[in-house]
Parts: sequence; structure tokens; C-alpha cells
Amino acid sequence: MLRCEAPVHRPHSLEDALVLRAELPGATILAGGTDIMVYLEAGQLRPTEFIDLSGVPALRALRSITGGQYYGAGLTCTDVVRSPHTHPLIREAALTVGAVQIQNRATLGGNICNSSPAGDTLPVWLALKADFELASVHGRRRVPAARFWRGYKKTEMRPHEILVAIIVPPLAGYMHFRKVGTRLAQSIAKVVFAGRYVPGIDAALAFGAVGPVPMRCPEAERALIAGASPAEVAAQVEKEISPIDDVRSTQDYRRKVAGNIVRTWLESR
Ligand SMILES: Cc1cc2nc3c(=O)[nH]c(=O)nc-3n(C[C@H](O)[C@H](O)[C@H](O)COP(=O)(O)OP(=O)(O)OC[C@H]3O[C@@H](n4cnc5c(N)ncnc54)[C@H](O)[C@@H]3O)c2cc1C
Repeated sequence: MLRCEAPVHRPHSLEDALVLRAELPGATILAGGTDIMVYLEAGQLRPTEFIDLSGVPALRALRSITGGQYYGAGLTCTDVVRSPHTHPLIREAALTVGAVQIQNRATLGGNICNSSPAGDTLPVWLALKADFELASVHGRRRVPAARFWRGYKKTEMRPHEILVAIIVPPLAGYMHFRKVGTRLAQSIAKVVFAGRYVPGIDAALAFGAVGPVPMRCPEAERALIAGASPAEVAAQVEKEISPIDDVRSTQDYRRKVAGNIVRTWLESR
């Protein structure tokens, strides 16, 4: 059985959580714990103490605001799957995280802050041009998803900050989500894709697991808006991404699959 003696602080308000974050900069933020438990088990994390966010109701809010939708960082995948207000792309991504047991605990904020390039929701935030709201005792600031991930497991978040919410603007267009893994459940993505397209006007082709951080393909997007064929856009996607060989897949497979996902989606519209 997994044992960890580090004390756990359980704030019940966001204000208390932010004060703890300021007072204990070395503490580990704990949300659903589904990534953290794995690191503990593997001996990759030696926490001195935890700040458990699961008792902070403000982090579970999902509501409409001026300029879009507000998703609290503590919403679990099950929360967003069950809500009738969830954006379809976000629901589809949440449904592919692990299996139901994991979805019941895994939070949106944990998926984002864990900063694995293969996190299932990450390309969705890029395709939807979401902003991440970060808070500390000094105030709040918004960072566009496109600037949040700085490298493998590196983010724009400062040590005294907590991810509070994701703000999703109201964008139109054809949308598509696709994850390719070894199995339907309990498998980390070999390639994960979220796309949005307004013919002749706007496009977002966002991928995870094909580079050190989730990424869009600006050249392929420009070609799509300008009227390039699905095959031409797919070929450009294959050029722009930078996948690696690892335990889950090869770069050649990832490149081919990424192109195929985009081509078949665009051909099926
Ligand atoms: C069996 C299994 C299967 C899985 N399958 C998938 C899968 O298919 N797809 C996928 O994407 N992931 C998968 N995961 C990984 C994991 O479930 C997700 O990344 C999940 O969203 C993490 O959320 P959490 O709330 O459990 O995060 P935690 O484990 O609590 O935290 C993860 C990281 O984020 C930080 N953090 C969490 N919340 C905040 C916050 N609000 N502000 C600042 N920092 C924060 C923590 O300090 C930690 O570094 C799987 C994990 C397991 C164990």
C-alpha cells in the first residue's frame, strides 16, 4: 500500500488556499491526485506537505460569463461530462481520460498543470483559444493557453500561484476531437487532436503528444483558410509537428496518424 507521511492542509476557501500557497511555497498542490499518486509510487516525488484543493467549492464552478464560459480548475472530468453546459470538445476530451474511476477524480486543472504533452484536454484549450486564470495573494492574471506550456513539465505558473479557472470564449466553427491510443480506455495518447474550422475565415489544428508541448500548426491552418485540399493540409501538418520515438509510439507513426486525422476530418465535412 502507498504510504506518505507528508502533512495535508485542506483549505475550504480559495482565499485560504492562496494564503497557504504563499506561506508554503514548497508544498505540493493536490487536486484529484491521479498523477501525484503515480509519482509517489514511482519515488519521483518527495513532498514535504500538500495543499489539497478538493475542499474549495469555488474551484468546481462551471458558468457563463461575459466573454464566454468559466470552468473552475477543480472540476473533475466526470463533472464536465455530466454538465449540460459543457462545450462538446471539452466533454469529448474528458471522456477519454483514463476510465470512469480516473475521470471521477481527475481535474481539468490537474491535467493542465501536470503539463504532460500527451494530456488529453490540452489541444482542446489551444483549439478553443482558452485563457488560464492564475491567482495568488497578490491578485489574478490571465495567460493564453498558447503561452502556458513552456517545455516538458514546465509551465508559465509562478511558485506562489494556483490555476483557478479556464476561460473559453464563444467561438463558432466545425469542431473535431480525436485521440489515438493503444486502447479506448486507460491509455495515454500516441496522438491527440482538437480542431476548429470556419471556412475561409479561421482555423485551429492543435495536437498533443507530437512535440515537447501541445502545439498548433500555423502553416497548415493558413493553408486551410486559403482553400488548400485536405491532403495538402495534412501534408503540411506532417511537416510542422515534431514527434519523437518513445515507449508508446514512433515518430513516423505519429506523423502519419496526425496527417490522417486531419485529412479524414476535413474530407468528412
Ligand atoms: C490509470 C491512469 C490513467 C490515466 N489516463 C489518462 C488519460 O487517458 N489521459 C490523460 O490526459 N491523463 C491520464 N492520466 C493522468 C491524470 O489522470 C490526468 O492528468 C488528470 O487530469 C490529473 O488531474 P488530477 O486532479 O488528478 O491532478 P493531480 O495529480 O492532483 O495534480 C497533477 C499536477 O498538477 C498540479 N495541480 C493540480 N491542480 C492544480 C491547480 N489548480 N493549480 C496548480 N497546480 C495544480 C499538481 O501539483 C500536480 O503537479 C491517467 C492517470 C492514471 C493514474
